[in-house]
Amino acid sequence: MARAAKATTVVDEIQNYLNGVAKSLVDRLYGPNGPAWGTRLSELEATVVAIRQHLSERMLHDVLQRQAATVDERPEAFRACPSCGQAVERVPAPAPAPSTDSPPPDPRRLDTLGGAAQWHEPECYCRKCRRSFFPSVQEFGP
Ligand SMILES: [Zn+2]
Repeated sequence: MARAAKATTVVDEIQNYLNGVAKSLVDRLYGPNGPAWGTRLSELEATVVAIRQHLSERMLHDVLQRQAATVDERPEAFRACPSCGQAVERVPAPAPAPSTDSPPPDPRRLDTLGGAAQWHEPECYCRKCRRSFFPSVQEFGP
């Protein structure tokens, strides 16, 4: 499992930082003496899992949003239709609405092992296939 081995290596490289983040969170949530006596393990577990979920989803959002912001600089291999290989064009973002009350475009959403990922990413369009897709995953979009 090369993917799991790579993730483990990344964690090893920043382990000291992660330990500091964990200590900071515990300090903030429970103070220097830890949780009050009588706090159930299930309550502590639920809090830790909720934090882990939030961190995972926030990191997925940030990393995918950063990549999407560089869509115009992506390598040539990511500028071709995943089906026919023809060059694609970027679907222009909708013009900004005159009113500030209008909602922003829907984010792209994916369920991942780390939770729900949400980010804004421009679509690309293949005229030959008449389909749009997201260049980050080279799969056809909605
Ligand atoms: Zn195509």
